[in-house]
Amino acid sequence: MDAAPIQSGAMAQRIVCDRCTDSPLREARISTAFWQGDGLVVLRNIPAMICPVCGEEYVDDATVVALDRMRGNGFAGCVAADPLPVPVFDFAGMERCGDS
Ligand SMILES: [Zn+2]
Repeated sequence: MDAAPIQSGAMAQRIVCDRCTDSPLREARISTAFWQGDGLVVLRNIPAMICPVCGEEYVDDATVVALDRMRGNGFAGCVAADPLPVPVFDFAGMERCGDS
């Protein structure tokens, strides 16, 4: 799952990547995660266009506005599709991580 922040670009009818001049984008569904209060919220199945070369994700303005609206009202009236257990690590206790 990709939890990278969504790039809000002017995507209307965009067909090539900004970074990779001639790379045609492909349609995809992406996921994003963000903090909502003290909790982590995952949003999946977001319609987007993805560059197959660099992986840059483009979400159209209407979708970004809809996402902002959902976040702004704390997903009131929305029903979570699934619970997702998330491991929480404490940096203060991680000195030995990576040791064998
Ligand atoms: Zn690209």
